[in-house]
Amino acid sequence: MNGVQDNRRGITILGSTGSIGKNTVELIEARPDLYRVEALVANSSVDLLANQARRLKPRMAVVADEGAYGALKDALAGTGIHVAAGPGAVIEAAQLPAEWVMAAIVGAAGLAPTLAAVRRGAVIGLANKECLVCAGALMMAEVAAHGATLLPVDSEHSAIFQVLESDQLHAVEKIVLTASGGPFRSRSLIEMAAMTPEQAVAHPNWSMGAKISVDSASMMNKGLELIEAHHLFAMPEDRIDIVVHPQSVIHSMVAYMDGSVLAQLGSPDMRTPIAYALGWPKRIYAPAPRLDLTAIGQLTFEAPDPVRFPALRLARRALQTGGSAPTVLNAANEVAVQAFLSRGIGFLDIAKVVEQTLEAIDHAALSSIEDVLAQDRSARDCAWNIIKRGRGF
Ligand code: NAD
Ligand code: MG
Repeated sequence: MNGVQDNRRGITILGSTGSIGKNTVELIEARPDLYRVEALVANSSVDLLANQARRLKPRMAVVADEGAYGALKDALAGTGIHVAAGPGAVIEAAQLPAEWVMAAIVGAAGLAPTLAAVRRGAVIGLANKECLVCAGALMMAEVAAHGATLLPVDSEHSAIFQVLESDQLHAVEKIVLTASGGPFRSRSLIEMAAMTPEQAVAHPNWSMGAKISVDSASMMNKGLELIEAHHLFAMPEDRIDIVVHPQSVIHSMVAYMDGSVLAQLGSPDMRTPIAYALGWPKRIYAPAPRLDLTAIGQLTFEAPDPVRFPALRLARRALQTGGSAPTVLNAANEVAVQAFLSRGIGFLDIAKVVEQTLEAIDHAALSSIEDVLAQDRSARDCAWNIIKRGRGF
């Protein structure tokens, strides 16, 4: 920089080619005066990653899939960008000294890299809810020990973060998470049994990656978010309510002891919560559609149906059980969603696989991240075996 000081915030994006990652790239590209990119990480989408890297000029571009190394190296030849591959390189990217890290890898695969950023005290935009579900208490302890900052990116948790008065936590009566109800909100169980992956990922309000879209259809997403909220806001399980709100305009609410309920509203567009985390503690512009309440006309609310959406009950029970139960819930759900997306099981079998895995595995206390990873692996093996045996479905 020819001796000129560069005061721009250094950014690393873990999962830059995904739905959250692409929205983050768009916001960063719009403000080259505020942000410079340290590292970009993806699983195997070489073309998109190389294209992003050519535009954003990070120090490092990484693919988790070692088989994609050669293609990425070729695509970035002559750019001076350091190219690496494999899970170790993903961690290395998270360890580079970027002040702000977007954690947007999907699933428990995001745990180790997110933790690597936590352990160097970074500010983290947390989209990857699965890492809090599978290792919540340990993660929060690491955040406190290393002086890291977690800024929720999940729209519900961003809403709560925005309306939670941090000096009035004693006055919070409860948190109310809103849920769209997903694409099968008004389908019968018989109809749901026949739903295809294409129908499950066609979310009515949000455009998202395949895994979270299926989670939204089963409402496991809201179960994972319940666990996420419990850890992020230190809120007991019985003080977190879930209400179905099909318009996805109110993103969540905090109810206080004086009867006040504070909500955050906006169009269902992830660029708003991403921009909030990116700009924090200031606000920055986001090109999300502006809310037009007269055009929307009505905001409606209903209770979730525990019969058609058993995932909610499973997640709540796993949180009550504690220890390794949420880790097992998350791992079994990842396996079951993958099996559903590849047409190995039906839609309603997802919750059955999760329930049977939870029943099959003895719950244990988790005292280290290694314990979490071991539980995650055995729950995955167990879930795959249940699917192979086709027990009960
Ligand atoms: P996605 O599938 O669109 O993208 C996932 C990203 O992670 C991709 O860049 C992929 O290359 C990368 N990735 C996958 N496995 C990897 C691995 N093993 N190592 C390194 N990179 C890997 O998913 P998404 O919809 O962007 O969601 C990402 C996370 O954000 C999820 O945890 C999801 O629950 C959460 N989230 C997403 C939304 C949304 O609107 N999409 C909203 C709230 C929370
Ligand atoms: Mg959400």
